[in-house]
Amino acid sequence: MDDLAFESLYELIQTSAQAGNSRSAIEKFLTVLRKVFVFDNVAVYLEDERTASLEIMYARAIGRARNAEADAAWGETFASQVFAKGLILTQDPPPDAPLEDRLQRPYMLGLPMGAEGATPRGALVFVRFGGPVYENEHIRVAKIAADLLSVLFERAEWRGTKSELNELKRQMQLQEDFVSTISHELRTPLGFIKGYSTSLLRKDTQWDDATRDEFLVIIDEEADRLSLLIENVLESARLQSKTLPLRFQPLRLDAVLRDVVTRIRSRYKDLEVTMQANSIPPIHGDGVRIAQIFENLFTNALKYAPGSPITITLDSSGDAVTIVFKDHGPGITPESLPLIFERFYRVTGDKTVTGSGLGLYICKQIIQAHRGKIWAESPPGEGVAFFIELPINPAN
Ligand code: ADP
Repeated sequence: MDDLAFESLYELIQTSAQAGNSRSAIEKFLTVLRKVFVFDNVAVYLEDERTASLEIMYARAIGRARNAEADAAWGETFASQVFAKGLILTQDPPPDAPLEDRLQRPYMLGLPMGAEGATPRGALVFVRFGGPVYENEHIRVAKIAADLLSVLFERAEWRGTKSELNELKRQMQLQEDFVSTISHELRTPLGFIKGYSTSLLRKDTQWDDATRDEFLVIIDEEADRLSLLIENVLESARLQSKTLPLRFQPLRLDAVLRDVVTRIRSRYKDLEVTMQANSIPPIHGDGVRIAQIFENLFTNALKYAPGSPITITLDSSGDAVTIVFKDHGPGITPESLPLIFERFYRVTGDKTVTGSGLGLYICKQIIQAHRGKIWAESPPGEGVAFFIELPINPAN
């Protein structure tokens, strides 16, 4: 082997050491390979473990017959043989193939992929139209390429497993956090209810009417908080198991929103809400559930952006209605933003703000059941804007 070949082989090893299994990484690898090994087409087939059949993973026509790229089936039967036997195979064109048409005279070389001695994981197939035949030296280089590619894929798979594992760990952490949040969330109102009712029941103390009313209001509010929390937990479980029934009917979103705003205003007199509703067509949806979403957004704004004015706009375009619900509070960091709709996710930090991490998850599930979308944006210093897009007719 000459110096150039050695250098290219070295470059090949370097490339595979750095690369992932992205298309561009494989492309780079094959470009380097072409310096030491001539081929027109190449295809990588890997075993799909679920179906136990070979799936085309990558195909490329580099030399002659570029149009062959579109039809990756050219190597499939041959690849299956290589894969089944676990051997390096070559296949010459049929003896009666017309000499003047190179494309009808493919010389194929197939190499099993995977660790030496183990069951193959796939096959790497090269084709040269009209030759030349594969010399032993060519086959040795191709074998190195197949081995390097195998390592490359295996490493990517390992990385995939690792990230799945990390995701699983994250989910477990979320569940754990949820259990501790929820036990705290259950205990706090229960503690108030128990404390104030015990006080009221004390025989040795006389409470004046005002104090008694004050205690009863606290008990009442804390009982509401408790039942809302339990309702949320149950609802999120039902949503996850897809057993929450939705009652679809023609719905005027502006009317639903106005109702919610009236209810919220009666409870929070100082809250500044501006609503701008352009004339929008009715949608098909569950009014109770949609109202619940708005209530949730209000509750969050009151909790996380206290004192901030809220603006709501309703608009329609084509076959969807868009609602933007915006506050001017502290906003959400870019790291947390993609996670806030996850079940149990809470932004850690201010522990005095109570919550279960279920509210936005429930919102998203309801919106998805309406075939809509919900997302949030939070440009620095501008609070949070929640966007909801609902199809006018979800059946379409
Ligand atoms: P919870 O309020 O019970 O924690 P949610 O699912 O409703 O759960 O919200 C998830 C997280 O998103 C909250 O913990 C909070 O940190 C963040 N968040 C939601 N709404 C806002 C908002 N308007 N401004 C800032 N942060 C918000």
